Amino acid sequence: MNKATRKAIIAGNWKMNKTRPEAKALLTELAPMVADVKSVEIVACVPFTNLETALAATEGTNIKIGAENCHFEKSGAFTGEISADMLAEMGVEYVVLGHSERRQYFAETDETVNKRTKAALEAGLKPIVCVGELLWERECNITEEVIARQIKLDFFGISADDLKKCVIAYEPVWAIGTGKTATADQAEEVCAFIRDTLAKLYGADVAETITIQYGGSMNAANAAELVSKKNVDGGLIGGASLKAADFTTIIKAAEVG
Ligand code: PEP
Repeated sequence: MNKATRKAIIAGNWKMNKTRPEAKALLTELAPMVADVKSVEIVACVPFTNLETALAATEGTNIKIGAENCHFEKSGAFTGEISADMLAEMGVEYVVLGHSERRQYFAETDETVNKRTKAALEAGLKPIVCVGELLWERECNITEEVIARQIKLDFFGISADDLKKCVIAYEPVWAIGTGKTATADQAEEVCAFIRDTLAKLYGADVAETITIQYGGSMNAANAAELVSKKNVDGGLIGGASLKAADFTTIIKAAEVG
């Protein structure tokens, strides 16, 4: 398998944006703009409060809905948390896990990302697991060490069959929401490194099937170059996913590949 046979995934991460009427309006605007897209999986990962609205607004379309996090326990005394089973029961398909904002502001660790990934898989969700280095880690020339460690820990104890249900998003932390995009060569270099790391852990055949996205200030202007790279199978998009026209341009760029 190679890029030509891996299906690119363009996923929007809405973060803490959009009320329910705004969510409905955005998805209702987006759906006809991307209705003809077949070769790219389109996902909108939305706040918990918007899930039901988003699922209803995209029914019968080619837009899949994801959540932005889930807890690792099935149920219990975890005030304010949402379980993977709760999401799956609603019809949610994807869940973003280990986003750098969760790691930075909500004390998530590779251990909890690993537990959340396992819980999501058990519930039948497709995890989009985010990894990425801080700016100073890149400056200290330890990007590969950081990424290898995250991959090993986040996927610890996860079988090859389960790994195939996961998406990995390479998101350099210094590029998220900053307007500073990694160059296409930098994105390719780390995405290829992630694939090599997976090949060492699971074998090359498995690694070749895994969708590895780039995320970090991807927008309508830079998407085409980023997704043209051999190991970049789409993107996880924050800010630019909040505008239907920009998100559509990124999706269409991924169709070309
Ligand atoms: C993200 O939230 O995952 C992200 C990549 O954000 P942005 O595109 O705004 O940098």
